[in-house]
This record gives sequence, structure tokens and C-alpha cells, in this order.
Amino acid sequence: MYCLGIEGTAHTISIGLTEGTRPLVTASKMYSPKEGGIHPREAADHHSIHVASLVEEALEKAGMSRKDIGLVAFSQGPGLGPCLRVAATAARALSISIGCPIMGVNHCVAHLEAGALTTDAEDPVLLYASGGNTQVIAFSNGRFRVFGETIDIGIGNMLDKFGRELGMPFPAGPVLEKAAASSDEYIPLPYSVKGMDVSFSGILTAARVLHERGASVEALANSIQETTFAMLVEVTERAMAHIGKEEVLLGGGVARNKRLQEMLEIMARERGARCFVPPPELLVDNGTMIAMTGVLMYDSGLRMKMEETVVNQRFRTDGVEVTWR
Ligand code: AMP
Ligand code: MG
Repeated sequence: MYCLGIEGTAHTISIGLTEGTRPLVTASKMYSPKEGGIHPREAADHHSIHVASLVEEALEKAGMSRKDIGLVAFSQGPGLGPCLRVAATAARALSISIGCPIMGVNHCVAHLEAGALTTDAEDPVLLYASGGNTQVIAFSNGRFRVFGETIDIGIGNMLDKFGRELGMPFPAGPVLEKAAASSDEYIPLPYSVKGMDVSFSGILTAARVLHERGASVEALANSIQETTFAMLVEVTERAMAHIGKEEVLLGGGVARNKRLQEMLEIMARERGARCFVPPPELLVDNGTMIAMTGVLMYDSGLRMKMEETVVNQRFRTDGVEVTWR
């Protein structure tokens, strides 16, 4: 069965095609605000302008037509309401016009499942580090559970905000990674781990102040990475120890960062665990991971009625009923 997945939780609208859970093609467009952060309405307008042509582009790349599609999956949440509604509306329209089933997918769970499907990880602890989300997730006692998470902003949003104030384009994460690579200087920043949760807003404030006082961008970028990544790795390691899992998986846009990958690999190696990083195109938001997870759900016997396809901005990872694991 071929599945078409639509991702649209935040800045990216993306169409992915899979054969079963095997990725075929992805076609994406990212909204990049001219100034300031993501404006939900503007992002939603961007998505509605591009969604139809991306469907055509993906089908053409795969040499397929609409009638080949056996399932339409879409990101049901969590995310920005207006953006989610564009993806859901497109999915409903496609499902009705093709006459095929529809499946709403939890975005965070899709990062985990697509990562597990494309690496040798089977039952990993996921460190999901993206723009809006930062969570440590694992399957335990019948559900995906959140073992730790940010209590304020996502790590990517923090990097983007800091970069924006320095005049960097969106997304700033990769620009800061380059800057960090050219410095070994470490300036202490507030290390905020609270129980199993993390917090980034204090670090952002501290970095701003240090920059005003003349600290270099390179040294600050390096210090932000070393501090925040150490926090994430610490919480991830404790989750692994607590539930006794020996696999760790990275997901989310920030997971593209080579230093984060390296730190997580060192932690895994030191405790005799295995570390997995999915291919980069699956780390960022993409329709393919939504399609892959939609197929897992469908194949386990789940079916969704049209009235069950309403979006859920605060769709919790542990609110997903897992029938396929
Ligand atoms: P996502 O929300 O998962 O699509 O990921 C987008 C976020 O990933 C943005 O906040 C980016 O700044 C961040 N990002 C992308 N590449 C990198 C990188 N190499 N290092 C750090 N952050 C990154
Ligand atoms: Mg994501």
C-alpha cells in the first residue's frame, strides 16, 4: 500500500510518499518569517499556497498518480492551530476525493517511529530536540511516555531567538553551530535541569547580557551548545537508566547538530548502549515520517472516522493510544 503523509505542525509543509513503511520521496517547503518569530497565520497561508503543488511534485517524483494512494496520513498535533488545520483540511480533501482512509498522527511519535524504522533501533529512548519541542520519549507500559521535557521554550526556538537578535537568518541553529565550531572558549551559563525537565529561557537571557558586555558570538555559541546539550544528554541518560533501555535515538531539527550527535554518542558508548541518528532529511519535519507512522497505525487495525480528524494543538505524546507496538 502506498501512503501519502502531510506534515504541517509549524514552519514546514511537507508531503511524503511511502510504500508501506518504506520512504519513497519527500517534497517540502519551509516558511521563513521576514522578521521576528513564526507568525502562525502567515505560516498557515504559506502552507495553503504550497500544499497542492507539493502533492503534485511528490507524486511526479515517485512516478505515481493519486489513484495509487491507499492511505492519507497527516500531522494531527501538537503544533500551531492554523498550520495544523491546513494540513488536516488538505488530508481530508485528498482522502475524500481519492476514496481512501485517513489517519491522524502524533508528530512527536512520528519522529520516534520513523527514526526506529530507518535505523537499527528497535525500542529506543528518543531525544527529540526541535524548534518548538524538546522531549525525552520512550515506549513504556503500553504508551509513549515523556520522561523529561522543556518547561519553557524548545531548544531550537531558543537558538533561533538568540541568533535573530544577532542578525542571523532563520533558522539560526546551523549558523550558531558553525560559529561554535571555531571557538573553544567556554563561558559558564545557567545549567537548568529541574528533576527530569530542562529550561532554556534563563540561558537565553544570560547569553544576551554576556553579548552586550562584549562576549564574542563564537564563544557564546560554543557555550550555549556545551551547556544545553549537556543538559539534554544528562536527562536522556537518566531516562535510559531508569527504564533500562540500551538504545538512544535522536530526532528533531536540532539533532542535525554534529556536536549534539557526538555528545550523545559518547554517553551511549560509556554506558554500553547504542546511539542512532536517522538520515538528516528525516530529522527535520517531513511528511514521510507521518506516512510511515500512519501505515504502522493502519496496519495494526486502527481506523479513523472523519469526525475524529480534528486537530489537537496540545496533542500529548502520552495521549496516543498505541496499538502497533
Ligand atoms: P524542526 O522544528 O524539528 O523542524 O527543527 C527546526 C529547528 O532545528 C530550528 O530551530 C533550527 O534552528 C534547528 N536546527 C537545524 N539545524 C541545526 C543545527 N545544525 N544545529 C542546531 N540547530 C539546528
Ligand atoms: Mg519536529
